[in-house]
Amino acid sequence: MASPPPIDFDKIRENSDGSLGSMIKSGFTEVISNNPYFAAGGGLMVLGTGLALARQGIVKSSGFIYRQLLVDLEIPSKDKSYLWFLEWMSQYKHRTSRHLSVETNFVQHDNGSVSTRFSLVPGPGKHLIKYKGAYMLVNRERSGKLLDMTSGTPFETVTLTTLYSDRKLFSDLLGEAKQLALKAREGKTVLYTSWGPEWRPFGQPRKKRMIGSVILDKSIAEGIISDVKDFLDSGEWYHKRGIPYRRGYLLYGPPGSGKTSFIQALAGELDYNICILNLSESNLTDDRLNHLMNHIPERSILLLEDIDAAFNKRAQTEDKGYTSGVTFSGLLNALDGVASAEECITFMTTNHPEKLDPALMRPGRVDYKVLVDNATEYQVRQMFLRFYENENELCEVFMNKYRHLQLTKVSTAQLQGLFVYNKSNPQSAIDMIETLQNPNTVF
Ligand code: ADP
Repeated sequence: MASPPPIDFDKIRENSDGSLGSMIKSGFTEVISNNPYFAAGGGLMVLGTGLALARQGIVKSSGFIYRQLLVDLEIPSKDKSYLWFLEWMSQYKHRTSRHLSVETNFVQHDNGSVSTRFSLVPGPGKHLIKYKGAYMLVNRERSGKLLDMTSGTPFETVTLTTLYSDRKLFSDLLGEAKQLALKAREGKTVLYTSWGPEWRPFGQPRKKRMIGSVILDKSIAEGIISDVKDFLDSGEWYHKRGIPYRRGYLLYGPPGSGKTSFIQALAGELDYNICILNLSESNLTDDRLNHLMNHIPERSILLLEDIDAAFNKRAQTEDKGYTSGVTFSGLLNALDGVASAEECITFMTTNHPEKLDPALMRPGRVDYKVLVDNATEYQVRQMFLRFYENENELCEVFMNKYRHLQLTKVSTAQLQGLFVYNKSNPQSAIDMIETLQNPNTVF
């Protein structure tokens, strides 16, 4: 490598006025201008700075162009349309996705069989779709650190990007996704259960239960249905008078008499969904109950099962010092505090009405209560004829035997068990009628 030219001290002296300060200055200029390494370094520095500025300019102007030409839509995982969109996309043909996630739905049917459905939804990453002639970039991102504390899942967002001129397609797309989701629920009832302080659908929507398939004693079903329908038609009346628009129903009676089944069928009849909470769940606290009751999905009936559990807990709290679980006052507060703009229909069930506190029976808490008891003769007959259509004669034989055995404490669930066991053989059901004497018969 060539060595730099020697320093010309005469020139330094010539260019200075002789003072030390001016000699240093002149020496510095001489060294810099004479030295090719410094000269080349300076040139590179200028070039580098220029390039950096140009790069910044490109980034800024591309950001500007991006903002002017493109438009983003962000759908956070908290939003309802988030799942709708993923489901829509899993069924959408015109897409290129290299990352897929599986969502497994596990459904238990009424007849006990189980089926599983896998949906291949777009996984985290970028995907390209062509929708109504426009290209859209879909970016599903998972926040690495932030966790949704209610469900323990990471927060996610899906961002759709398309040309500004195609922005109207976003609402078309979301509308389509919503329609698809609603179609999947058509004729079905969604069961929600609590998941932390949130309501989440439990499995896939179920086929509606026909109201006629639940046989209650004469006029019980009609009474409840007409009361609920009347309530639903009276929104204006409640609002005008400033009364909270809610109504509570209590169905009490022995287990297996059809309380829960009837409420499910009623929800189907009204085209409502059901939010089920079991008050005997040990991790349900007053705060959670209150929160859940104030955040019920729209068009849903709230079903509080085993309501007497709150009364047990009260005793336990006092005697044994338990602090978890729902307390009686917590339940009353939650019932009184439901403040929703929409109607609120609460159904409560219990097998132990004697444990209930009279304070529960106030208007606004329980407005309508009805005993759903063991099967009456009317119900036995109806059940028989529902399982064995047109077998009127055999029905009479069955009824005579039933009376003769003086069976009084038979639940409708027991009858169902006997008839299902003898599905296509009414005579065999008659022969086995004695089994009804034991409520715990296992066929
Ligand atoms: P409950 O809530 O009163 O304990 P369920 O509604 O859970 O009773 O009923 C348990 C089972 O018995 C269900 O499979 C249901 O189909 C059947 N069942 C009970 N009562 C009736 C009824 N009155 N009519 C038709 N089925 C009934």
